[in-house]
Amino acid sequence: MSQNNNITPPPAKGGAFSFSFNPFASRITAVTPREKKLLNPDLNILADNSLTAFVDMLKRNKLRRIVVMTGAGISTSAGIPDFRSPSTGLYANLAKYNLPYPEAVFSINFFRKSPQPFFTLAKELYPGCFRPTVCHYFIRLLAEEGMLLRCYTQNIDTLERVAGIDESYLVEAHGSFASAKCVGKYRKPEPIVVSTDVPSLQDETTTSDSDSDIFLEESDFKACGKEYSQDWVKGHVFDDKIPECERCQGIVKPNITFFGESLPKRFHAMTHSDFSQADALIVIGTSLQVQPFAGLINRVGAKVPRLLLNMELVGVDDGSKTHGFDFEGDRHEYRRDALFLGTADAGCEALADLMGLGDKLKDLVAREHAKLDCDEAADKEKSAPARTESDEKPEVAAAEVVAAAVAVDEVGEILNELKL
Ligand SMILES: [Zn+2]
Repeated sequence: MSQNNNITPPPAKGGAFSFSFNPFASRITAVTPREKKLLNPDLNILADNSLTAFVDMLKRNKLRRIVVMTGAGISTSAGIPDFRSPSTGLYANLAKYNLPYPEAVFSINFFRKSPQPFFTLAKELYPGCFRPTVCHYFIRLLAEEGMLLRCYTQNIDTLERVAGIDESYLVEAHGSFASAKCVGKYRKPEPIVVSTDVPSLQDETTTSDSDSDIFLEESDFKACGKEYSQDWVKGHVFDDKIPECERCQGIVKPNITFFGESLPKRFHAMTHSDFSQADALIVIGTSLQVQPFAGLINRVGAKVPRLLLNMELVGVDDGSKTHGFDFEGDRHEYRRDALFLGTADAGCEALADLMGLGDKLKDLVAREHAKLDCDEAADKEKSAPARTESDEKPEVAAAEVVAAAVAVDEVGEILNELKL
């Protein structure tokens, strides 16, 4: 008689699975996803959740359509600290503007009325003073090896571009400083000054849960949409001038995503085909807190191996979410998630070594950093913008700021964290 016909099955030992036809016990002893994988090893896309297992899978199946998703964690070793760190002094220079709430600096409608706080901040977080990290060059190497389908980044620091990753490989999900355009400006008779007493023109707004935001009709600002280069805007910012449109005198804003703005069209245009085509996913240096970006990890096929390189465990399917990572293989039908806990650079170095690309990566980083050293020396010859008011490092993880700006629902939470 087989075990399956026993009315009372033997107790499971050492994690062994068991079947039962006892109707009272069936709910308790239903086959779990983990047990299914013991029955059918083909459900184990990865042997375990290690980096080695992930790379074995890449090699064995010659996977070459890798989608990479990144966040602020890949830029921290470039000297861009987390904006939540009090030592960055991010908002210190904005105190004189008496913002109605800190994130107003990233509200599109507030910006049209009072652009100065943003440009004060922008002067400090403008890209150009930072060198791409090992991680950025690893992504470029994937592209050069013909293994990168696309890199989705939440960062607005443009370090992917500085690292030499062709823009055709990039989706800058929260925009970037790389380009700018006229967004018009508030044209009501009131003078454009920053005040705590910001008029609330309408109660209805779809973009913020704050009653301090300002709702503008398009006729109030008349954006012509003329595009401008990063250098053109940067020139104005470092000369302490508000960049004004040459055609309509509107405000010219870098194309980073503010409260009240949609994500870039390219994000929506690319995600469907990229994530359905991807044959592997690598997620690096992001807390996966901001939607819709975070939800992208669930857009790849159910058998597509996924790797998380991060300082801490994030994005895990704990039963309360619709999906997420399943590093233990006990929730989803297929075991396909791998994990490396550590810095983005350490993870990418380890990954490159296992892929046989370790030496190429080291060479690439050394060569490119040497080039940037030359560029920086040349730039210093010209003129370095003076920074005053604080000896603290003023740079901030702009991506995190804008990520916060996009995640409108999280404003209250972030305010609490900032204790502002
Ligand atoms: Zn204009």
